[in-house]
Amino acid sequence: MSDNQIPAKKRIKDLTFMEKIYIPEIVKGMSLTFKTMLKPKFTMQYPEEKYIPSGSYRGRPVLVQEENGEERCVACGLCSRVCPALAIEVQAAETDREKERYPVKFEINMLRCIFCGFCEDVCPEEAIVMSKDYELAFTNREDGIYGKDKLLTPINELQDRIDFLRKYK
Ligand code: SF4
Ligand code: SF4
Repeated sequence: MSDNQIPAKKRIKDLTFMEKIYIPEIVKGMSLTFKTMLKPKFTMQYPEEKYIPSGSYRGRPVLVQEENGEERCVACGLCSRVCPALAIEVQAAETDREKERYPVKFEINMLRCIFCGFCEDVCPEEAIVMSKDYELAFTNREDGIYGKDKLLTPINELQDRIDFLRKYK
């Protein structure tokens, strides 16, 4: 070896006598395992046990349905325009009600939605909000397109989210 060469590092760990006989280390490891087993568990037995999120949770976007059954949406199309995934399709129609317009068709393609919440942010009517629903499963692509029948949700089920938005938005 020339004077300029750096000697290769020894990669062997200097074990103590107790470490070399292994048994105490195994006992230490097992005691840690048993201690952890007795600590409170954070995992849930889903789907038997359901996780109920707080108002800050962003589940699938839904349309707010008032207590009298009317929809809040006035079909302005802002949510559709802002959606980065091009997941929302709205078709407006006129009505005799006070708000004059409503969405004759409102669809969200849940295969495209990325749960960004932009639709909720931009809505001037607080008509589309992120719900607590995280259970999305389809067996074909058509079932992933949610129409008004799946989107309209009674306001009392969305109150947590609406309260959260009024406080922090
Ligand atoms: S949450 Fe985002 S991606 Fe999903 S529909 Fe709303 S704007 Fe589009
Ligand atoms: S949900 Fe809101 S932003 Fe979207 S069309 Fe209806 S009123 Fe406009």
